[in-house]
Amino acid sequence: MIYCQKCGHELDGHEKFCPSCGKPTPNQTYPIRSTPLDEGGFGWSLLGFCVPIVGLVLYLVWKDERPITARDAFRGFIAYLIFLGIALVVYVIFFIGLIGSMNYPYGP
Ligand SMILES: [Zn+2]
Repeated sequence: MIYCQKCGHELDGHEKFCPSCGKPTPNQTYPIRSTPLDEGGFGWSLLGFCVPIVGLVLYLVWKDERPITARDAFRGFIAYLIFLGIALVVYVIFFIGLIGSMNYPYGP
């Protein structure tokens, strides 16, 4: 026999929610969000930023199982993409400027 973790109401083992207080029971098919391993954190974002492919893979693997950790790893990946985009724009602007100065070596 199973008892509700919150109010102690007796459960028949099939309910997804306690009929007395509404607390989700362990019978639920989807995992409860507050699993101990799913704490996320800045370290995951940093990992996703430094090794973006790992951040992306972790997100795809954990998005259902550990949604918080997956989200933080994905944030690092997105931060990397933004950083890469800015670096590319700066590079292109610099490169265009370089070509421009080659065409007019003695200035206007
Ligand atoms: Zn209950």
